[in-house]
Amino acid sequence: MDRRNDFTLTITHLAAVLLIGLLLNLDWNEWFVALLFGIGIDIDHVFAVPGYVERNGLGALLRPSWDDGSGAVWRSLLHDPIGAFVVIPLAVGWRFMLPLLFWSTHLLIDYAQAATLSYSALVESVFLGSLCAGIFALGYFRWRVSEASSGLVPFLLYIKDSVKRYFARSSGQRTSGRT
Ligand SMILES: [Zn+2]
Repeated sequence: MDRRNDFTLTITHLAAVLLIGLLLNLDWNEWFVALLFGIGIDIDHVFAVPGYVERNGLGALLRPSWDDGSGAVWRSLLHDPIGAFVVIPLAVGWRFMLPLLFWSTHLLIDYAQAATLSYSALVESVFLGSLCAGIFALGYFRWRVSEASSGLVPFLLYIKDSVKRYFARSSGQRTSGRT
């Protein structure tokens, strides 16, 4: 697996977390848990790097693929179904068992990506595309209900306005912070 694929895979994980999180109306604490278990568990790739450098030298970091055939553990226990023994106790008490929900989603996506590796570019793009379409559709229907309005163009204008307002507000905060 090359790093470009790892990168798209991270985007895919992010899109999946966003879609599920929006569907469930998460609060801030829950978003943190969602990101931690939905994306953060990939941090174990980072821990595998020192061993890889030791075996192949620093220059090997520039190779297109980091798989040196050593069978090294790029994925910790948290990337194995056995990790459920750790995640399930953590999930108790959370709404929707959130840690378990996002962790198992992450594993499913990783598994699907590995299973379709030979044509992953297409399968993954389609999957990522549908996630993004889902996020967009969800935003649209919520906007339609809350603003009692409809039509794609007004919706896009609404997004544009929200983004503009957001940046106006944050630059206002910066200015007032300076004085
Ligand atoms: Zn992963």
